[in-house]
Amino acid sequence: MTAMLEVTNIRKRFGSVEVLKGISLSARRGDVISMIGASGSGKSTFLRCLNFLELPCEGSYRFQGEKLDLRKASSGDLTVHDPKKLASMRSQLSMVFQQFNLWGHMTARENVMLGPMRVQGISRAEAAERADAYLAKVGVSHRRDAFPAFLSGGEQQRVAIARALAMEPEIMLFDEPTSALDPELVGEVLRVMRGLAEEGRTMIVVTHEMAFARDVGNHVIFLSQGVIEEQGDPRDVLSNPSSERLQSFLSSRH
Ligand code: ADP
Ligand code: MG
Repeated sequence: MTAMLEVTNIRKRFGSVEVLKGISLSARRGDVISMIGASGSGKSTFLRCLNFLELPCEGSYRFQGEKLDLRKASSGDLTVHDPKKLASMRSQLSMVFQQFNLWGHMTARENVMLGPMRVQGISRAEAAERADAYLAKVGVSHRRDAFPAFLSGGEQQRVAIARALAMEPEIMLFDEPTSALDPELVGEVLRVMRGLAEEGRTMIVVTHEMAFARDVGNHVIFLSQGVIEEQGDPRDVLSNPSSERLQSFLSSRH
């Protein structure tokens, strides 16, 4: 089976500091890839490079078998030159952030409707129908007319997941989706994510939830100082880490 997304040798510098030193990843349909690593190791930067929220300095991308045509931006970084291609690529790789990032002046439902209307040009009526379907899927239909400030953190994050799903992406990207939540709200978000994985969705998840990485993921990548230090089947890698860095990272989390 060809990879749905294949990125090779991604490098990223901020000024003189190289934070990604040649990272490659290949995701097939249905893969749930967890990325773990200490704070500052480059996880968010890498995830953001996957959908060009951050522009890599170097690297190549193949999406659904097709090589992306990358050009130098004025910054010297690589970008997708064709704005239509960039927009379509972004909507195929939909992101859920640690801080939810919902629009505060819009209801839950309007938050979910916005992307499909703006980016995909669907009608308001169709967007509303689609929003309701995804809000139901994440279990927050009853809160659809509430503004984010009146939702719990767990509800906000589930709305944010519905918003990402409403773009009907090929791949879902999650950047520490439960790290900003009170402990008692983590479970409801993880349950939704587990459900998406069980549906066969392709997901790349930066997380500190080792149980999720082990039980839901089929591949884990340990990032350390901008390089992949170790990767493989989570059941092997997490229970029997071979590198000292991963051993000490895992033991620091118990
Ligand atoms: P992680 O998500 O693993 O905690 P990040 O990808 O956020 O790590 O950050 C990796 C490194 O890159 C850190 O040293 C961070 O300070 C640096 N960094 C991230 N974004 C920027 C930026 N926009 N400008 C300068 N440095 C950055
Ligand atoms: Mg991060």
